[in-house]
Amino acid sequence: MEQIEYVRPRSLTEAYDTLSNGRRSVFLAGGTDIVVQLREGRRSADQVVDLKHVPELMALRFLDDGTLEIGAATCCAEIYEHPEVQAKLPALIDSASLIGGIQIQGRASLGGNVCNASPAADSAPTLIALGAQLLIGSKRGTRELPVEEFFRGPGQNALEQDEILVQIRIPPQPARSGAFFNRFIPRNEMDIAVANAAARITLSADGSTIEDARVAIGAVAPTPLLATSAAEALRGKAPERETFEAAGQAAAALANPIDDMRGGIAQRRHLARVLTIRALENAYNRAKEGI
Ligand SMILES: Cc1cc2nc3c(=O)[nH]c(=O)nc-3n(C[C@H](O)[C@H](O)[C@H](O)COP(=O)(O)OP(=O)(O)OC[C@H]3O[C@@H](n4cnc5c(N)ncnc54)[C@H](O)[C@@H]3O)c2cc1C
Repeated sequence: MEQIEYVRPRSLTEAYDTLSNGRRSVFLAGGTDIVVQLREGRRSADQVVDLKHVPELMALRFLDDGTLEIGAATCCAEIYEHPEVQAKLPALIDSASLIGGIQIQGRASLGGNVCNASPAADSAPTLIALGAQLLIGSKRGTRELPVEEFFRGPGQNALEQDEILVQIRIPPQPARSGAFFNRFIPRNEMDIAVANAAARITLSADGSTIEDARVAIGAVAPTPLLATSAAEALRGKAPERETFEAAGQAAAALANPIDDMRGGIAQRRHLARVLTIRALENAYNRAKEGI
């Protein structure tokens, strides 16, 4: 039987130090991906580094400028139960409250969801649509990366061997904007998305046109995608069904899906279109509330 050491750093410095001892490490935030992967032999490691005892990784707070800082190991339940997050970032609640079920949400973190780098990760499209930045740290210092640049392929992310995802930073959202996330699964809960999509729409001052937009789709390519062509199809246009249809088509054209037990290629392309349109319609409804 494989021996794996369990390490519990109490600070970021201690966590960085554990990564320079030459052992092959994996991190344990909620453990809802990594424990399964280790048990099934899909991953192997000499040590598991528990991140839940590092204060910076467990903090959740709004800064004075409105930026939300989410410690990478903060669990989904803590995020969706936070009244200010509920009021300011409902799209984040859409994602955090869909990941797994109640038990999973009490452990699973957004940091783990992002670092696991599944193409179907349910937080990814939302974080992309909201313009999130990732704060990455190591003994060498820190760096920031837009979340859409973090994903490198199924299970692959932009972290170097000595780096830890410290925080997810969501900037203050533009005035007159609204965002929404949705996914398709063949049953009501506890399943991996066949496809998912999120969108943020910013309306003009009189609400008659779309000033700006960010659209993201997931589970239809090796990584979650920022659909820039879909956003282009929206800018300067009236927020109506025809415009949303055009953006849905543009998003679907970017899809490069696989055929697997969850869904086929044609189905996933179709879903990329439909879920984008629904995300836009609902983002628009939320944006209208801010006018
Ligand atoms: C029953 C069940 C249902 C699920 N349903 C969903 C679902 O609906 N939608 C969905 O998207 N996912 C789902 N998942 C997958 C999983 O729950 C999520 O991906 C979850 O967010 C992972 O977070 P975690 O904190 O448990 O990550 P962990 O398992 O602790 O870690 C995941 C990976 O990220 C790395 N990691 C974690 N934190 C950091 C960090 N700070 N810095 C660097 N690397 C780090 C770890 O080394 C590991 O490789 C489900 C899983 C189960 C078991």
